[in-house]
Amino acid sequence: MANPLVYADFQNLDDENRLRLTCAGTRRDLERQGIALREGMALTLYTDDADGEGQPDKLLADGFVQYNEAEKCWVAAIDWNAIRHEKDQERKLATTRSADSGEKRPEGNSLEPILSPRQDCLAASSSLEPPLLQGSHTKRRRNAQQLIDDRIIEGAPSFISAAVGNLTDEKRSPAVIEVLCRMPEEEYQQIRENHIWFFSPHPLVRGWNGRIPPNKSQIIYLPPLLETWCRKDCVIMVAHEVAHSLLGHTELSPNNTLEDETWSKVIQLGFGTEEQVREIRSLLGELNSGESGGYSDEQ
Ligand SMILES: [Zn+2]
Repeated sequence: MANPLVYADFQNLDDENRLRLTCAGTRRDLERQGIALREGMALTLYTDDADGEGQPDKLLADGFVQYNEAEKCWVAAIDWNAIRHEKDQERKLATTRSADSGEKRPEGNSLEPILSPRQDCLAASSSLEPPLLQGSHTKRRRNAQQLIDDRIIEGAPSFISAAVGNLTDEKRSPAVIEVLCRMPEEEYQQIRENHIWFFSPHPLVRGWNGRIPPNKSQIIYLPPLLETWCRKDCVIMVAHEVAHSLLGHTELSPNNTLEDETWSKVIQLGFGTEEQVREIRSLLGELNSGESGGYSDEQ
């Protein structure tokens, strides 16, 4: 996490539950690091707390700086669901490292509802170039810089588009990068020519109106909900939407035929095994419940 670390009083909130960046400790940290606050700046805020044994353990939250016009002060909008203790974070990183060699799936996992994070992903890495998933049988053929150069994803962090370095977009942008970096050359060129905008709004964006980026003509929408999925499932879902684009599906399918075709493409491209696809389809309600579901994730 490369954001500047700045103290904030987590009890000092404005009407919109944003942290006021006004207290003495905050000003001291800003001054010490030579930081001039500006709209949209990413910070990691901390406050002093203790662990279960009474030892000091900072509470951390990532946020974006905003200006509170009414109160004439700087505040930080943070994701209250993503607050963590510093020691937990260190432990998690250590787990990630040791778990890289093989992802284990706890028993009974497939029965979990799709809305909750799946256990095998709690140790998932969110780095820009994540390690290939177990079972992947395609290699990475290009890097994230190539995607930026080809104007498929943004180079600078963004509130709305898949981009390198998005602060709270830990699953969607890395999944887009992984899928596109592993895509065979022919399909990659096709995706390039489809001029897809990977619309991946920040979870705190409550609504949005704006222009479609100049060189884009198709949209793949990746909802914030995907941030609660495990990385593997998120990669498969992104691959699924990309497969729809490759197959020229831009209308809703009247039945599951297009879905069958799309999932076959996902498997053919090497983004999921038959078993993984069957599992995710049953979680999505595509397999057992007949007509219901199946489109809510789509287009
Ligand atoms: Zn679909």
